[in-house]
Amino acid sequence: MNLAHGPSERSGRFEQLAEELGGIARLFGQRGWTPATSSNFSVRLDADHCAVTISGRDKTRLTADDLMVVDLAGKPAGDHGDAQPSAEAGLHLALYRRDHGIGAVLHTHAPNAVLTTRLQPEAERIRLAGYELLKAFTGVATHDTALDIPIIGNSQDIAALAREADRRLEATAGICWAYLIRDHGVYAWGADLAAALRHLEALDYLLGIELELARLGGRIHSHPQGEPS
Ligand SMILES: [Zn+2]
Repeated sequence: MNLAHGPSERSGRFEQLAEELGGIARLFGQRGWTPATSSNFSVRLDADHCAVTISGRDKTRLTADDLMVVDLAGKPAGDHGDAQPSAEAGLHLALYRRDHGIGAVLHTHAPNAVLTTRLQPEAERIRLAGYELLKAFTGVATHDTALDIPIIGNSQDIAALAREADRRLEATAGICWAYLIRDHGVYAWGADLAAALRHLEALDYLLGIELELARLGGRIHSHPQGEPS
């Protein structure tokens, strides 16, 4: 099935993916993850094409008309008029080119992601260790592990940012389904939309816990078993 055609002859699958993406976008909007038309989403349609959000559209009211089909080099496929893919589509495409198993990429400006990078101005990565919710990441079977989330410096040069993300992912040992961009937001991906969403939600929860820990001074004061309180 050729899914890379224009809006006038959109396939049922395209419409269904757009509906799923619309539901996710509304959820993110309610959470305050996509302020001021920011953020962008994409799903892979086949080996060489993906549907990506059109630049500048309000993501809280996303429909199939707010998505366009591009090949993995960013060239529009089908008739999309003057529409342009999201400015950061290059980062989505670099991920799809990097790994054929990636089926969806979600990018938001969620406060927990931005706060984490601002609190750690020198950090190259965040290490999340020992949490039960790490099992939400595909390939993780136990809490007794650690995941490194790369932090990449922000830039308006999307091609340079994509190259840097690629370099950092190459250098990251172990399972990695997300990276943070400093003072900007988070990218998360997965084999399909459901997995990408699960990864993004798990990461936001864990960053929220880490931030709350930092806010509380890093540790809960407690009394070990057997010691008088
Ligand atoms: Zn962004």
